[in-house]
Amino acid sequence: MTSTLSTAIIAKRDDLIALTQDLIRIPTLNPPGQDYRLICEYLDTRLRKHGFETQLIRAFGTPGDSEKYPRWNIIARREGRRAGECVHFNSHTDVVEVGAGWTFDPFGAEISDGKIYGRGTCDMKGGLAASIIAAETFIEQHPDFSGAIEISGTADEESGGYGGVAYLAEHGHFNPDRVQHVIIPEPLQKDRICLGHRGGWWAEIETKGEIAHGSMPFLGDCAVRHMGAVLSEFENKLFPAMAARHTDMPVVPEGARSSTMNINSIHGGQKENDPDFDGLPAHCVPDSCRITIDRRFLLEEPLDQVRGEVRALLEGLRETRVDFDYELTELNSVLPSMTDRDAPVVQTVAHAIEDIMGKAPEYVASPGSYDQKHIDRIGKLKNCIAYGPGLLELAHKPDEYIGIDDMVDSACVMGAALETLLLPKD
Ligand SMILES: [Zn+2]
Repeated sequence: MTSTLSTAIIAKRDDLIALTQDLIRIPTLNPPGQDYRLICEYLDTRLRKHGFETQLIRAFGTPGDSEKYPRWNIIARREGRRAGECVHFNSHTDVVEVGAGWTFDPFGAEISDGKIYGRGTCDMKGGLAASIIAAETFIEQHPDFSGAIEISGTADEESGGYGGVAYLAEHGHFNPDRVQHVIIPEPLQKDRICLGHRGGWWAEIETKGEIAHGSMPFLGDCAVRHMGAVLSEFENKLFPAMAARHTDMPVVPEGARSSTMNINSIHGGQKENDPDFDGLPAHCVPDSCRITIDRRFLLEEPLDQVRGEVRALLEGLRETRVDFDYELTELNSVLPSMTDRDAPVVQTVAHAIEDIMGKAPEYVASPGSYDQKHIDRIGKLKNCIAYGPGLLELAHKPDEYIGIDDMVDSACVMGAALETLLLPKD
């Protein structure tokens, strides 16, 4: 069954394509965080034409913000004719580096076989475009709606969201008195609802040694061997313990339903030479070795426990291993977030998916975090999901694309959700 609103959204297919292409052609690469102002101005012009009031907000002083690369964000709000709740669509405008392996122009937004190709098509300018078309069409069809619709385009999600959603949340823009429902159109697939994400803890561990001549290592103390001991503690104790823990969160893919840790990098001893240097190394015992760890944790694991078990392994080595010394520096942490299945935005979008797609939605959670963390922890707004077109597996890959039909379908779902939340119930 196709509603009047869906019919009107489907009729805007060309507009949706052109809007997505325009967004892709603004290369908002992060790092460094370029063209944020440009994309905000583009959205500003578009949304003002549709009766939105807009605010361009620069996140002064946040990581990466500079005169050359200012962190600009836009919030657009359209008030209804009477009081009611506010539905907010939040999309990040930044895209990650292009990388190798493309057969399409990454910023060309070329169409082939029903798909638009380019960096940021699925993650997540296609979702942003779908939400804009859904909101604009809803307003045209129901000019007397109650409440308000907000659309934001925010910076820096790919680097933690501190110059984007975190900044806006700190300044009251996600206050539950002002905003009641948040939909983040990340590419979680048009028939899935993403309830939240795991937590993350990032730290650097340095083992310390003492420099000496490489022919007499016993006169020094090898920091790389100490790090070897750390890694074998991880292999023998930490990795098996993490693998044995399972979450009730519906995380996809399956492997991410346990705790995980990536060892991001390792550096020890002499600096690597430039590729054009063809000399031989000097013979020295390394006095320092560093690793960076990326620990993803579950709703069931308190952050203190996550930190504590790594610290306990290191302290254990201090007791058992001669001359073992280390330093642990915490780099960043993010708590898990999980919205209740019976939260109003979840139930509303679930019904909309059933109506439009003719099937019950799948509920999922994300292995990595996204801006929901800031809306939850800083904004104190719990009624938030990720729902949008595109396949998560394509994010950050070469030849990233978004299916045009998928964008249209999810715009219809978003439109149906607006009808449920913002039209008077009779
Ligand atoms: Zn994204």
